[in-house]
Amino acid sequence: MSAASFDAALRDARDALWLNPGEDLAAPPGATLPSADDVRAASERFQRFAPLLAMRFAELRDTQGVIESALLPAPRLAAGLGLGPSHGRLWVKADHQLPVAGSVKARGGIHEVLEFAERLALQHGLLGRLQDDHRGLASEAARALYARHTVAVGSTGNLGLSIGIAAAGLGFRVVVHMSAEAKPWKKQRLRDRGVEVVEHRGDYESAVAHGRRAAAGDPLCHFVDDERSPLLFCGYAAAVFHLERQLAEQGIEVGARRPLFVYLPCGVGGAPGGIAFGLKLRFGPHVHCFFVEPDQSPCFLVGLVGHGAGRASLPSVYDAGLSNATEADGLAVPRASALAVGLMRTRVAGVATVSDERLFQDLRRAHDLEGLRIEPSAAAGFCGPGRLVGTDTGRAFLRRRGLLDALPQAHHVVWTTGGLYVPEIEFQRFLARAAEGE
Ligand SMILES: *Cc1c(COP(=O)(O)O)cnc(C)c1O
Repeated sequence: MSAASFDAALRDARDALWLNPGEDLAAPPGATLPSADDVRAASERFQRFAPLLAMRFAELRDTQGVIESALLPAPRLAAGLGLGPSHGRLWVKADHQLPVAGSVKARGGIHEVLEFAERLALQHGLLGRLQDDHRGLASEAARALYARHTVAVGSTGNLGLSIGIAAAGLGFRVVVHMSAEAKPWKKQRLRDRGVEVVEHRGDYESAVAHGRRAAAGDPLCHFVDDERSPLLFCGYAAAVFHLERQLAEQGIEVGARRPLFVYLPCGVGGAPGGIAFGLKLRFGPHVHCFFVEPDQSPCFLVGLVGHGAGRASLPSVYDAGLSNATEADGLAVPRASALAVGLMRTRVAGVATVSDERLFQDLRRAHDLEGLRIEPSAAAGFCGPGRLVGTDTGRAFLRRRGLLDALPQAHHVVWTTGGLYVPEIEFQRFLARAAEGE
């Protein structure tokens, strides 16, 4: 892996798109671990727990415990981003409104907590079989069991919120190791719920390493390992089942003449990787997934480009001469998940990077034009459609895939990944920051 190829990849990603030379549209889906069955199992686990979650979390009562988000048409935002009818239609998959966690981390993080809770309940006889009514886990006996166990995690903020609130809600003791970029309000929200927050001065990778070490010495502690957990990954991937229904409800049939383009904010790669994995299982070569990273934290791009060069671990953004400094705290990750990079090698269409300035502009556009309240990380996808339809590299991709003619029938889904619980004063600061940049 030469410095020159890093530089070229970073330049492509910044100016337009870095196109993944390893993408293989003919790759057989599901010949992997995790498998298609694992993704189905994650979805069924969410369903089994829904009645219990509805009891435990007031915000889930209306949905009977289902944690899902809307698929919103965004015509005004499309126009604001310079997309016309000839480019297809723009949608927002509104994971910024996911309850309990307030971010996409609800999918992966809560799934892993549920798996641990279910496994313990089976081991200790609180559930006889998986099919038993999980509302029984609201009992005193279950809470006492969970209180003896710890769930620990390292986080830049949102994964900690997701794991912390879900696990504390079921009765677990929870320890969250927060990296330097974690916002004070996220730590406070956890402490208000009895979660122990350990603050680290270092970056995300070192917070995870601390947490992993602390947990390794405790047999009653389950460490949620964002850099290598298949359970998180499958929780994210299960998003495909609901999205599939939402597309069908809108009369959208994804196919060769009706491509689906999906733009996903990327940190360590678990959330976008899992979602892309699920989408590929269902829509195969007709879905094209692009990840978007901050221009100082493109760890996934660096991981893909530097992968397989005989190194023990993936290279980091520091190896590529970048700082990992970004206001997009959810994406401020120096080194990608090897699990996600390995699974995305043949599946991701490309990667783009985005400046913080553009993130704030898009955050404001999403607010002004569609009334969305998102956090900076969640705005990353909005630069994607323009990079695809409006740059030479993007159009070369479309031409090579034979998709230029299909563009008017295309659907672009921008995944907005966090923001529900951002305090009003913080949100006003985001808007002010956007105004400054003009
Ligand atoms: C964590 C996060 C992501 C990306 O998920 P990774 O698994 O780290 O790639 C995107 N947006 C927000 C708001 C997040 O919190």
